[in-house]
Amino acid sequence: MDFTMIIPGLKGAILTNVEEVGEVVRLYVEMERKVHRCPKCNQRTNKVHDYRLQKIQHLKWFERKTQIFYKRRRYVCECGKRFSEKNPFVMRYQRTSIEWNQAISIKAIKGKTFKETAEIYGCSPSTIIRRFDQISRSEICPVEELPTVIAIDEYKGDTREGKYQLIIADGITKQPIDILPNRYKRTIKDYLRKHGSRVQIVIMDMNHSFKAAVQEALG
Ligand SMILES: [Zn+2]
Repeated sequence: MDFTMIIPGLKGAILTNVEEVGEVVRLYVEMERKVHRCPKCNQRTNKVHDYRLQKIQHLKWFERKTQIFYKRRRYVCECGKRFSEKNPFVMRYQRTSIEWNQAISIKAIKGKTFKETAEIYGCSPSTIIRRFDQISRSEICPVEELPTVIAIDEYKGDTREGKYQLIIADGITKQPIDILPNRYKRTIKDYLRKHGSRVQIVIMDMNHSFKAAVQEALG
């Protein structure tokens, strides 16, 4: 029974079987055989070299832990180069699907705690913390000057630096700008003194220590 079915994150894949093993759903998928360009010499080929079965962790399906069993095809070119086919759901050398990665990237930032996010996505809290660190390093560029309206919110991250972190966002666009490692008054104050000369409005809940830090730093 082969059928192409639009499953979120698995578009274009052929679902060859679905199995329920205990609490886990296994989706067996493969891609259609088609002409690929050789990454080395750019010639066309559809000659199959071999297949490998790859297990990939995916998002939950009907509240069940879900794994993709991907029969990955490798092609071989006349020049001798062997290479994997293209597929839309997993990146090279990854054991988790693209969708899963996107979901935990969002939840690493927006989820309640690392522990809870880890439980939902079936991984360890340290995986979520690593992701959180990666995002705060790469996607958030170093801040020179904060905009005139900022929002400060706390986030229960439970990292080595402390139980709570602070997210600094643009108060108008709501885009996160920076993440402070803890919510100590000293940290906020130093940060605002350094980067906050243009800030006129600070949106935040009325935590006393925040308020005092903001007032002391910005007047
Ligand atoms: Zn080639």
